[in-house]
Amino acid sequence: MRLIDPRGAGQGASRASAGMLAPRIEGHSVALLQLGLASLDLYDNFVARVVADSQRRVEYRRTGTLQVALTDDEARRLEEQHHALTRAAVAHSWLDAAAVRRLEPSLTDAVVAGLLIPGHGYVGVATLISALSDAAGRLGASLSSTEVREVSSASGGVRIDTSDGALTSDVVVLAAGSWSGGIPMGSTPSPPVRPVRGQLLQLRFERPPLSHVVWGGLGYLVPWEDGRLLVGATVEDVGFDEGVTIDGLQQLLACAQTLLPAAESARCDGARAGLRPATPDELPIIGASSTMPGVYYATGHYRNGVLLAPLTAVMIAELVLDGRERAESVLVQPARFGL
Ligand SMILES: Cc1cc2nc3c(=O)[nH]c(=O)nc-3n(C[C@H](O)[C@H](O)[C@H](O)COP(=O)(O)OP(=O)(O)OC[C@H]3O[C@@H](n4cnc5c(N)ncnc54)[C@H](O)[C@@H]3O)c2cc1C
Repeated sequence: MRLIDPRGAGQGASRASAGMLAPRIEGHSVALLQLGLASLDLYDNFVARVVADSQRRVEYRRTGTLQVALTDDEARRLEEQHHALTRAAVAHSWLDAAAVRRLEPSLTDAVVAGLLIPGHGYVGVATLISALSDAAGRLGASLSSTEVREVSSASGGVRIDTSDGALTSDVVVLAAGSWSGGIPMGSTPSPPVRPVRGQLLQLRFERPPLSHVVWGGLGYLVPWEDGRLLVGATVEDVGFDEGVTIDGLQQLLACAQTLLPAAESARCDGARAGLRPATPDELPIIGASSTMPGVYYATGHYRNGVLLAPLTAVMIAELVLDGRERAESVLVQPARFGL
């Protein structure tokens, strides 16, 4: 198996990601919720296998998410979510202001209510990418740091033209994130994926200031074990610009300072931006091409590519190796976009 990527593994949006595993948070559609929950179920085994295959540590914790309301309006919306979770028999706790403060004493006094979903968590994406790369290498995969210029049908397989010459393979999985639409595919249309920039700020504390991933109206905070805190994220339609901007940083600082007063004295540990690959229906494109034998798609994961990684991997592996389709396939068929 060969990974062809000029940047190396996981250096696009994945490198910038906050790594939250929280399918019940972001106002997801029913289909996206189904995909997210199926993938979250696979996460324990996915990480255990990557750790075993790579012999590397992955920071992965199911610490739960705490959504907080700072206004009565936000509290009303959170309460509606609480009732919906109760109807769906999902484990969670509705917290008043005093209970939120007991759980997370560093949060602002302005919190009026909170919703704790204990099944959620996060993965340290840098540690996951390193472990995945090592595991793949140990299992025989190689990396070519070249660019794919075109994918086309050829006798005996699929032809891949790269900046370093042409290759032929039985199977090609197109997984180029936001850039997936820019790779010519013969007479098949390119995947309708567009970039949506997200900026993320990293702060450093002496010890973790929070014990849960926290969501507020302006954004979210992800506390790592070593005292680093991720503050995310902007959502911007600016094409393929991967730059960090003053405007973006101001938005993230406002989020951090509003939720966590102690952020004022934290060290700034850097900022980064990535391009989320969005499709018109905000669902990923995962599965076999309906027009080009041997071509598969694993792209368009928009805001949830880290969460959906285990499910995507299993779906592609089962399809390519055994020709089996999982139940979730109907939600993410390439054919819905003529692919
Ligand atoms: C700020 C931010 C926060 C996020 N937070 C979360 C989160 O908390 N939870 C979550 O689940 N998701 C999150 N996401 C979304 C998640 O990061 C993406 O959905 C996911 O990383 C997409 O992965 P990908 O591999 O498809 O794309 P990418 O990681 O962008 O990888 C695409 C790769 O394709 C390569 N490539 C491009 N063109 C070519 C070519 N012609 N030839 C060869 N290679 C090529 C690129 O070099 C790149 O390495 C976040 C994203 C951002 C930006």
